[in-house]
Amino acid sequence: MRVLVTGAAGFLGSHLTDRLLGEGHSVIGVDNLSTGDLKNIGHLSREPRFHFEQHDICEPFGPDFSRGPVDYVFNMASPASPPEYLRLGIETLRVGSVGTENTLELAARHGAGYLHASTSECYGDPLQHPQTEEYWGHVNPVGPRSVYDESKRYAEALVMAYHRYRGVNTHLVRIFNTYGPRLQPSDGRVISNFLMQALRGEPLTVYGDGNQTRSFCYVDDLLEGILLLSKSNEHLPVNIGSPIEFTILECARAVLDVTGSKSELRFEPLPQDDPTRRRPDITKARTMLGWEPHVSLTEGLQKSLDFFTAKAAAGQ
Ligand code: UDP
Repeated sequence: MRVLVTGAAGFLGSHLTDRLLGEGHSVIGVDNLSTGDLKNIGHLSREPRFHFEQHDICEPFGPDFSRGPVDYVFNMASPASPPEYLRLGIETLRVGSVGTENTLELAARHGAGYLHASTSECYGDPLQHPQTEEYWGHVNPVGPRSVYDESKRYAEALVMAYHRYRGVNTHLVRIFNTYGPRLQPSDGRVISNFLMQALRGEPLTVYGDGNQTRSFCYVDDLLEGILLLSKSNEHLPVNIGSPIEFTILECARAVLDVTGSKSELRFEPLPQDDPTRRRPDITKARTMLGWEPHVSLTEGLQKSLDFFTAKAAAGQ
């Protein structure tokens, strides 16, 4: 297939690109580099089946953009870490609305399959636990996080509309917290922050009392689920994430164990509307896709260590 991946220089987009190339496909990678990093795809500079276009998906794709047919579109483009989407609030709303519509138009024009990277943030600060796909969420539509949450919720509505009204073969994955190599060390997420702080011997910054929970999925497991979903006949959202829930304090301890660091914990204020708990119900992915994650948090942190150790050594 000829596959177009938006957000190809990002954390998930670059790993997805590697997987698609590994399966023998050709990939057109698109990114405006607002939060992506060319280093994530630097190893592909001599790959004849990979072509990179620096392009903002909020600008329409011209008729010759792909220089040929497109069989599948993976829409992975968006700022995704809280500090980054709070910095780029309007851009985040635009990429989920105008940008996503442009990618759907492209898919419709080419008769291509389509997968959109949605998020557990659609559930907001959930009142149902664990979260099933049927849960409509508990989202503050005007709080600081709304630029991300509502962008992603609108994008889901748009994707469903292109499926229902235009017959596009769409798929929606609701991604829960994911980590691994190529998470930007400075983008402010908990695992990257903790690993970098532990490796530098700095205190680990725990926001709030650290009793809020997240369920962390290693990137390879997540991509397995995304690829299975992309080939399925399911058009409604599917949760892909780890069903094993950790408090942020447990996560800090796991990072200290894996790194052997003696760093202390430093408690800092909890950001506004920070969800108190988050865990996917993955029954649908298990039954429909035969998918479940296999990499434990400790194993995943170990697999991530070389990347973050190199970044810490480079002073990043
Ligand atoms: N967090 C933390 N210390 C950090 C970064 C994040 O305690 O240095 C907390 C954050 O408040 C949240 C959780 O870790 O409760 C996950 O945050 P992250 O930014 O990784 O992703 P989110 O799930 O909030 O989108």
